[in-house]
Amino acid sequence: MNSQNIQNRLNDKTRPMFTIGVTADLIGVSVHTLRMYENEGLILPSRTQSQRRLYSHSDIERLQCIRAMIEERGFNLAGIKGMISMAPCWEIKGCSKADQQICDAYHHALEPCWVVKTKGGECVDTDCTDCPVYTEVTTCHNMKTYLKEHWKHA
Ligand code: SF4
Repeated sequence: MNSQNIQNRLNDKTRPMFTIGVTADLIGVSVHTLRMYENEGLILPSRTQSQRRLYSHSDIERLQCIRAMIEERGFNLAGIKGMISMAPCWEIKGCSKADQQICDAYHHALEPCWVVKTKGGECVDTDCTDCPVYTEVTTCHNMKTYLKEHWKHA
């Protein structure tokens, strides 16, 4: 592999690179805390074939955002989870009415759409870590931007 290819890999923010231990150390929390965030559906780390978690630069940014919401703005995990669960994913993805009717994310606002059990056809067998609902809208700075843009054109 030439040096340009290596540089491209290093510059890819979505490339899973960091183990859970390294990530916990970078963020300044325990491994247990990172697992808790995952159990609450706040973050979706990648998994290797042997099921080890790997985090990307984008995941680190998401975790920094979660930490800032807790430490600077007084949110707890339930509050963050509730907020990101309110993203109108069916509009962002352009789901059909039929898909909306069968999708748990459309009917319940208690969990982020990527963790619900029954999803509409647009989302079945989709990698949520590539979806704009997860990557662009449900981060601390982008939810507001999305809602402002959306309401402007509504
Ligand atoms: S693909 Fe995943 S993250 Fe995107 S709207 Fe569907 S369930 Fe949500």
